[in-house]
Amino acid sequence: MDNNTSQPSVLIVDDELVGRFLAEEALAGMGFTVHTADDGAQALAVFEQINPDIVLLDVIMPEMDGYTACQHIRSLESGRHTPILMFTGLDDLESIDRAYEVGATDFITKPVNTTLLIHRVRYILRAKQTADDLRESEAQLANAQRIARMGYWKLNLNTRTLELSSEIFSLLGYSSAKQPFDYGSFLKVLHPEDKVMLEEAFSEIVESSEHLNLDLRVLHADGSLKHVNLVAEQYTGLNENTLLAGTMQDITEKIRSERQILNLSYYDKVTGLPNRLMFKRQVARALSSAKRFGRMLGIISLNLDHFKRVNETFGIAAGDILLRQVATRLLDTVRSNDTLSFAGLAPSNEVKTVVAHFGGDEFVLLLEDMQSAENAALVANRIIKALSDEFDINRNGIYISASMGISVYPDDGSDADQLMKQSVAALYHSKDEGRQRYNFYTPNMNARAFERMSLESNLRKALDDEQFELYYQPKLSIDGHQVLGAEALIRWQHPDFGTVSPAKFIPVAEQSGLIIPIGEWVIRRACQQIREWQEKKMPPLRVAVNLSAQQFSEDNLDTLLAMVLHETGINASCLELEITESLMMADLANTTQMLNKLADLGLHISIDDFGTGYSSLSYLKKFPLHTLKIDQSFIRDVLTDTDDAAIVRAIISLAHNLRLRVIAEGVEDKETLAFLQELDCDEIQGYLFSQPLPAAQFEAWLNDRNAT
Ligand code: C2E
Ligand code: CA
Ligand code: CA
Repeated sequence: MDNNTSQPSVLIVDDELVGRFLAEEALAGMGFTVHTADDGAQALAVFEQINPDIVLLDVIMPEMDGYTACQHIRSLESGRHTPILMFTGLDDLESIDRAYEVGATDFITKPVNTTLLIHRVRYILRAKQTADDLRESEAQLANAQRIARMGYWKLNLNTRTLELSSEIFSLLGYSSAKQPFDYGSFLKVLHPEDKVMLEEAFSEIVESSEHLNLDLRVLHADGSLKHVNLVAEQYTGLNENTLLAGTMQDITEKIRSERQILNLSYYDKVTGLPNRLMFKRQVARALSSAKRFGRMLGIISLNLDHFKRVNETFGIAAGDILLRQVATRLLDTVRSNDTLSFAGLAPSNEVKTVVAHFGGDEFVLLLEDMQSAENAALVANRIIKALSDEFDINRNGIYISASMGISVYPDDGSDADQLMKQSVAALYHSKDEGRQRYNFYTPNMNARAFERMSLESNLRKALDDEQFELYYQPKLSIDGHQVLGAEALIRWQHPDFGTVSPAKFIPVAEQSGLIIPIGEWVIRRACQQIREWQEKKMPPLRVAVNLSAQQFSEDNLDTLLAMVLHETGINASCLELEITESLMMADLANTTQMLNKLADLGLHISIDDFGTGYSSLSYLKKFPLHTLKIDQSFIRDVLTDTDDAAIVRAIISLAHNLRLRVIAEGVEDKETLAFLQELDCDEIQGYLFSQPLPAAQFEAWLNDRNAT
């Protein structure tokens, strides 16, 4: 179309003025925008400038004749499809032939009949429009196919001839021009399994004359594997030939991303082992076949002992490395044929053992086709052994152990969820018993696991709902006259269960990590209490809080304490930390570092439950300590048990040698007190003076004493 107007434009090229004028008049009268030229050279210039919808071209002209001009126009990108109507002499067959040769669209004889000319021009333009539309839709289709990576194919089942569109050639990496690509060649690039499937599908579709839709794997010319989707329909062609026609689409990317999604949802990110979702499926599958064939299977739930410490000490990345190494050892343990036959599991032609990773330090194993429950115990023993060797994490030698619980089908139940829960209950039992061991599930474990679970979710709520309270138990000078301080002991008032003992919930809080926020609450609450008592002008008291292992290994414990001291505005010397002996001795390097930071803050540090751990004397000397607290188990029978008496005596003299104060806790009677006075103990704490009391009662108790 002419750019300047919506009217069709025509270029009339003729050196014969009268003829040209008549044509001009006629076409202008029909609404054409008319441009003219005298010869071929001029015609080309005008053509390029205005790009007309149609060209009327005389054959005989000076300078450049019509044939040459026609050829030139056709060689232009814009002139490839422009209709060119040539004026030829009457009955001049030779020039008509030549006109077609050089690319003319049609011809009309001279002298020109203007009515005929108008119809001819209109007809040509309409035909061109149709051709343009067709070209456009073909281009769109080709484009769509290219974008969809889809091609078209047709197969004659009688002659076995295959026609492929160029898209399919490029999809397979062949060039359509060079290689003959027949049905045989196509079958050759198919994955062998898919070849059988395709041929079966083709014969089926012929019988049923249904639609076919198949995903196939094909070998690309470059050797890579592609996934294609093949859609086909059957119809009858000429000579009753059976034809199949359809599309073929490259779905390699789609399959790849589907696999990725599948991987993400079924496999653990860190170890690549099946995750909980995948494991559940495997258990369901294994169970149904175990039921059918009357076989036995086992589930082993496994937790690494003290895995958190690895994360805390060496960082999460190191923890991940350890998890991967554990995964490898677990796989090795169950994979070696040796172990399996040793453990009495099925021969190795089928994978009969699944190792899954539920995230964190939770692993689970599924043992299929066991001969007896003993097989699971053998595997568990192997695992304990396999994990007992040193792990090398970034050149740090790390030792780790695992606790396990085992449930067995059909002994313990027939439901996948139930079996998994039971193995976890047995696992908790192993942890309670002191770790690095396994236990078979027994029914009474269920109640305990349930209690633990409900305890844990209740604990979370307890913090939010302020169900915790601190009780205070006084610490007195050995003569019993002076109250020197108090130990803050946490209490949990549960709306339904009543008071829950810390001995019961602190271990659960430690295992679930809740001890961190709970411990922080204790520190803050104790400091606020000190502040309140100072504001009430009560005699100064040093309040002690108990620290648990996890709190103590938190890197920022000192920062937290400094912050709380600052918040509450109390002096560090008013706060004392009780840290158990076994905790201090667990990681000496860390302990030294942390204790120094805490002592630098000005805090008092007591070593709690002293006598129960195995202290290294050289460290005791180095640690910045203030007080040794003799464990109450030695005090309880100190009057009757000569061993205990000897230990208490030794501890007191050791403490004094180290220039530490020493306190006895659990003092319940006057006789014990008298004995401790004899041994020159410095302080005492126990029911003899007071049980731990809520803050208000503790205040009242203090006031009573001072009044008398
Ligand atoms: P612990 O630190 O050894 O605390 C001393 C325990 O002995 C307390 O038990 C106390 O009530 C009890 N006790 C005091 N005097 C006597 C006595 O004369 N006779 C007897 N038989 N017992 C006496 P409680 O309050 O039940 O705490 C038990 C344990 O729970 C504590 O042992 C401590 O390890 C832990 N705990 C308590 N509060 C906290 C806390 O806020 N944080 C942490 N991490 N642990 C805490
Ligand atoms: Ca304590
Ligand atoms: Ca204690």
